[in-house]
Amino acid sequence: MNAPTQSPSTFRRANRISDISVSEIIKISTRARELKAEGKPVIILGAGEPDFDTPDHVKQAAHKAIDAGMTKYTPLDGTPEMKQAVCRKLARGNGLKYEPQNISVSAGAKQVLYNAFMATLNEGDEVVIPTPFWTTYADIIRICGGVPVLVQCPGENGFKLQPEQLAEAISDKTRWLLLNSPSNPTGAAYNADELQQIANVLLDHPHVWLMSDDIYEHIIYDDFQFVTPVQVEPRLKDRALIINGVSKSHAMTGWRLGFGAGPVELIRAMAVIQSQATSCPSSISQAAAIEALDGDETFLKTRAASFQERRDLVVAGLNAIDGVECRTPEGAFYTFSSCAGLIGKSTPDGQVIETDSDFCRYILESAHVAIVPGSAFGLSPYFRISYAAAKSELEEAVLRIQKACADLV
Ligand code: PMP
Repeated sequence: MNAPTQSPSTFRRANRISDISVSEIIKISTRARELKAEGKPVIILGAGEPDFDTPDHVKQAAHKAIDAGMTKYTPLDGTPEMKQAVCRKLARGNGLKYEPQNISVSAGAKQVLYNAFMATLNEGDEVVIPTPFWTTYADIIRICGGVPVLVQCPGENGFKLQPEQLAEAISDKTRWLLLNSPSNPTGAAYNADELQQIANVLLDHPHVWLMSDDIYEHIIYDDFQFVTPVQVEPRLKDRALIINGVSKSHAMTGWRLGFGAGPVELIRAMAVIQSQATSCPSSISQAAAIEALDGDETFLKTRAASFQERRDLVVAGLNAIDGVECRTPEGAFYTFSSCAGLIGKSTPDGQVIETDSDFCRYILESAHVAIVPGSAFGLSPYFRISYAAAKSELEEAVLRIQKACADLV
């Protein structure tokens, strides 16, 4: 017998995660925390979560659930009450009729995505992703053996997928188109006409299913009318998965509660994955989410108005910088700005800014503001700012970025 080349105790990663590295966002947050620990006044604009608190009526529903002993496993993809609450939300908010058997409830929208890809992708199956995209998408698809097909959607097109680009990207192996509107990282959102044009392409390709990540549905500005693609084109309903949750709308990121709505065969397949991963979503979070979905929602508009004020502050501040261009987003709480005009310039200590990563590193080290390079989302040279932060912090951050950019020669 040949001697083993590695000792039995050598740690080996599975091949399925060999291409998945720690995200750029985590590297930046780690460095930002180090600088903070050194006493630097770091402002972190990298996080993807609202700075508001979970509403009181939702917290109270969770307390009540605990007191009532709702602390055990629930049915594996959600309680009947939670599924009914999701059906009511989709009927009331989106004009869509779904039955509880069409609903899957998970530990966040992220687990809904994960279950759906695990349950449907075979090795080499393709998923079309308009790019820039939320980094998680491509990594989940790779973990599941699929191939992300990244379609570049530049700022000139409002960062939106054009129907002809979709037609070109579809192959025999395409299983899904993954849309995210409003988008992380760009804040771009598709109106009904744009969605209809995309839907028309899908109607020509019946083997392609649609995943619509609607998690930022309620964070929209300037009277933008949110619509989900199935509303616009009901013929897509029997091959669409709508993904949503309470994380962003109700500032409930830590409660881990999201949901999906789709054809029953898909929902059942997703339940197989969930049953062997987490057994069920948290009983307490489900009770809280029912209250979030059914309870008073007037605060959603007030919060969106508060985000809009901050969006305007950041967009104006960034556009005042020579070399930076910031498109006004329709939703979510991110700006995605081009820094093309700064590439090739030098920092005061003589370092050349060659990439958006160089730019973001410079801003972090010199202005102590943590922002994320476009390369993390598949489009360069850009940078993303999350403006889910206090107005005073944003004002200070914008001033510091302006000064750091003025120092470039
Ligand atoms: N989709 C998008 C586009 C997101 O930005 C996020 C959170 N960053 C999620 C889904 C995940 O949401 P959840 O916390 O409910 O898993």
